[in-house]
Amino acid sequence: MIELNNLIRDNIKALKPYASARDEFSGTEGVFLDANENPFGDLNRYPDPYQMELKTALGKVKNIDSNSMFIGNGSDEVIDLLYRIFCNPGKDKALTFSPTYGMYDVSAAINDVELLKVELDENFKLDFDKLAPFLENDSLKLILICSPNNPTGNSFDFTLTERIIANFNGIVLVDEAYIDFSDTRSTTELIGKYPNLIVSQTFSKARGLAAARVGIAYSNPEIIALLNKVKPPYNVSLLNQQAAILALENRAQFDADLQLILSEKEVLKNQLEALEIVVQIYPSDANFFLIEVKDANRVYQNLVDQKIIVRNRNQVVRNCIRITVGNSSENQQLITALKTIEL
Ligand code: PMP
Repeated sequence: MIELNNLIRDNIKALKPYASARDEFSGTEGVFLDANENPFGDLNRYPDPYQMELKTALGKVKNIDSNSMFIGNGSDEVIDLLYRIFCNPGKDKALTFSPTYGMYDVSAAINDVELLKVELDENFKLDFDKLAPFLENDSLKLILICSPNNPTGNSFDFTLTERIIANFNGIVLVDEAYIDFSDTRSTTELIGKYPNLIVSQTFSKARGLAAARVGIAYSNPEIIALLNKVKPPYNVSLLNQQAAILALENRAQFDADLQLILSEKEVLKNQLEALEIVVQIYPSDANFFLIEVKDANRVYQNLVDQKIIVRNRNQVVRNCIRITVGNSSENQQLITALKTIEL
């Protein structure tokens, strides 16, 4: 059984968190002269540090209790906070599966935490046997699993993911930034079962709010309390919170946009498959494709010259580019541009 208390860094355990004016008095009525705010203007007041209105709205959609939710300044903030809470710099280790999302590396480096990598197999699947020896390592505190995975696009097997969570005595983050594009099961359903599980999702992808910077962590109330303890007091602006609430209220728009992206994804896939320049398209549960082409550097540069910007992932997976599904017109411009490239 996981003893959460043994996993938290001592300095975080001992930390006396900053108490904001809104922590000291959380009512909404009265003359507020407690936060050194400006009495004039529309955005003059600090936002709710715990984003309760947003959490209530999100809770209704997801059927999850507010005290099992943390709102971050993007889900990137969640990644950084987890390193800071659970990994002693220069001492503890984290682990992920490669290739995967680049911020796990960057956040680890910023926090002076070594990030171990277990390679995915040739179909980008998880291999539990390859991971198993690492689970014995006492200095391993955090495992980051990205599903659907960026940049490969595939989801990992739910049972295998659960096996990792169940067999690890540290913290597991399952990053589900792209889950809304797939019909695979979310690991949020395991939160009550495993005290070491955190699941992150985001408003940046299917909910179309990348500019607003709103990410979510779902976990048990103890871990949520730790995230709240360490975060900057007002980490999500009022404008961001309002944008997220509006997006949740606009359910019909969300469904329509999502369906459109998914149908465009099918059209794009068929068109890409027909191109001679494309060697293979990896299966995708996300809103992008990882595509192997004959010469990724040349294809990338040629597309840039035609003002079409994709992601060159040649350094990560040889001769691969990552293409986000755009709207119909954007996808057609991409296909037209790809057709002009001579092999
Ligand atoms: N996780 C994954 C797998 C991502 O691809 C991204 C964005 N590129 C993020 C997290 C961060 O998303 P955000 O901070 O916008 O919520």
